[in-house]
Amino acid sequence: MGFSVDMLRGDIGVVDHQLSRRALINEVKRGRVSRDSVCDAHPELIRAAKHLGEPSKTVCPICEEVNVVLVTYVFGHGLPSHGKCVTDKKDIEKLQRTGHEYAAYVVEACPECRWHHLLRVLPIAGRGRSRAAR
Ligand SMILES: [Zn+2]
Repeated sequence: MGFSVDMLRGDIGVVDHQLSRRALINEVKRGRVSRDSVCDAHPELIRAAKHLGEPSKTVCPICEEVNVVLVTYVFGHGLPSHGKCVTDKKDIEKLQRTGHEYAAYVVEACPECRWHHLLRVLPIAGRGRSRAAR
């Protein structure tokens, strides 16, 4: 089973991912949503978090034992359907130079309890296109 964007928790259409994240955490704390159902990160995501992730200062909201790790996946032209895990700002700059448009999905993941949530979706616009052309 491969990893895909569908496995990232969080509604892509939601503007404020922090708000939906907080709402979900509250539901877990109140016992309305089981911990198992939110701590189900795909093994690929956990692997990426352990090896390629960017450490954060945010304590995992579920297990409160370790800090969550930020993982960025980029989707778009010429990239694998499961996205490309980006670890370096230079990789993003490289994509910008292609002139194509990409979307970067920043996900937080807990290597300890496997909690994960989409934090934000950032458009990466290629420099090849001018704003006037849109
Ligand atoms: Zn955790």
